[in-house]
Amino acid sequence: MADFDAIVVGSGCAGPVAAYELAKAGRSVLVVERGNVCGAKNVSGGRLYTHSLRAVFPDFAQSAPLERRIVRERISMLASDAATTLDVSDELMRDQRYESYSVLRARFDPWLAGQAEQAGAEFINGIAVESLLKQDGRVSGVRAGEDEITADVVLLCDGVNSLLVPQAVDAGRPTPDQVAVGIKHVIGLPEKVISDRSLCADGEGMAWLFVGDATQGRIGGGFLYTNRDTISIGLVATVSDLVDADTPIYQLLDDFKRHPSVAPMIAGGTVLEHSGHLVAEGGYDAMPPLVGDGVLLAGESALMCVNAGYTVRGMDFAIAAGQQAGRSAAAALEAGDTSATGLAGYRSALEDSFVLKDLKLLRRVPRFMENTPRIFGTYPALARDAMRSLFLVDGTPMNPVRRSMLPLARRVGYLNLARDLSRGVKAL
Ligand SMILES: Cc1cc2nc3c(=O)[nH]c(=O)nc-3n(C[C@H](O)[C@H](O)[C@H](O)COP(=O)(O)OP(=O)(O)OC[C@H]3O[C@@H](n4cnc5c(N)ncnc54)[C@H](O)[C@@H]3O)c2cc1C
Repeated sequence: MADFDAIVVGSGCAGPVAAYELAKAGRSVLVVERGNVCGAKNVSGGRLYTHSLRAVFPDFAQSAPLERRIVRERISMLASDAATTLDVSDELMRDQRYESYSVLRARFDPWLAGQAEQAGAEFINGIAVESLLKQDGRVSGVRAGEDEITADVVLLCDGVNSLLVPQAVDAGRPTPDQVAVGIKHVIGLPEKVISDRSLCADGEGMAWLFVGDATQGRIGGGFLYTNRDTISIGLVATVSDLVDADTPIYQLLDDFKRHPSVAPMIAGGTVLEHSGHLVAEGGYDAMPPLVGDGVLLAGESALMCVNAGYTVRGMDFAIAAGQQAGRSAAAALEAGDTSATGLAGYRSALEDSFVLKDLKLLRRVPRFMENTPRIFGTYPALARDAMRSLFLVDGTPMNPVRRSMLPLARRVGYLNLARDLSRGVKAL
């Protein structure tokens, strides 16, 4: 007999939710987390769309450590000396159905783990799972430190940089074009100052994404989220594109923080935290198989994350996948079949949910970004010049708008513009 019905590797977003579902179904479940405390190793820009959290914990808002409800959305195309910004506020962002919150993982992850613990899951912290145990080709447990612990099913919720996925299913490690590196500072400022600067009421906040000069033309972008009394600011840049960059990413972040459109938001603040992490970017076509004999993959271990330029989503995917993984594992344990066939309901459940539907819909985005470098340099400069022709007035006679815009379009080439637009529309 195995030591546990189920072992969950990793306690980020997917792991505790999977463990919660298993414990709720009356199963013995052990979570192994390498961080000394849950959340210690984890990084997010910080915006959580809460629909999937609500599906697991309907009353989460009463106890979860949420920072600010996001009610203002900004997207900027950054040139080195200008920003062209779309600024959206919408009452529907306050509607429960569409709600999203800024979160800090150092606070959020322990809360999530606490929910699983209260439901009966056991936790071991501070030890990494080094390898998977196998019996007759099927996963039968984990090796962690000195210990070999067995289980009828193992759930890999160990995030994007999983060393265990290649041992579990027929998949390699993600390639440098399928992952980006993220770097982030958390900057402390008084609550009122943050509210005023983001034009938000206390308790409400802003999500601001940047493309262009944030990464100095490299594939990727910047983010800024307002928390209660801190601001999360950072960059995400594709690894394969960054390797031959002259400027290291920490320098890119310092330059980004000094950009004239960004600096006033964080002026006078103190850097409280500095972190870095990989983030999955390969999308649907890069995903490994989701089940093997005795094993399931949930969250970013299976590369469930999208960066569509206007939004970054990984946490809501991980939570929803963790829920389905826990439920499917519990059903397979009940049926006495945790082979790949017995666990196959997991993939079907995700295919019916937004998780695989959204990942599939946005499958062209990674290639579109990679093949359209103009998004990160030419277009932000073009947007700046177009806005200059509208908004700068010096008393010399004006040109008709069309006469100002046509030379700008010619600079890129009509064919290139049409091609990029058509590819962008298809990708999104
Ligand atoms: C810079 C950045 C910005 C982002 N911004 C956003 C955002 O704004 N919104 C959003 O929704 N998503 C965002 N994401 C993505 C999001 O953070 C991830 O998709 C999400 O955290 C994935 O959850 P997960 O549970 O699969 O993995 P993780 O949260 O990474 O958790 C994996 C856990 O497994 C543990 N672990 C790993 N290996 C082992 C091992 N061998 N043994 C034991 N434990 C192990 C880790 O310590 C960790 O606790 C961002 C990511 C980055 C890096």
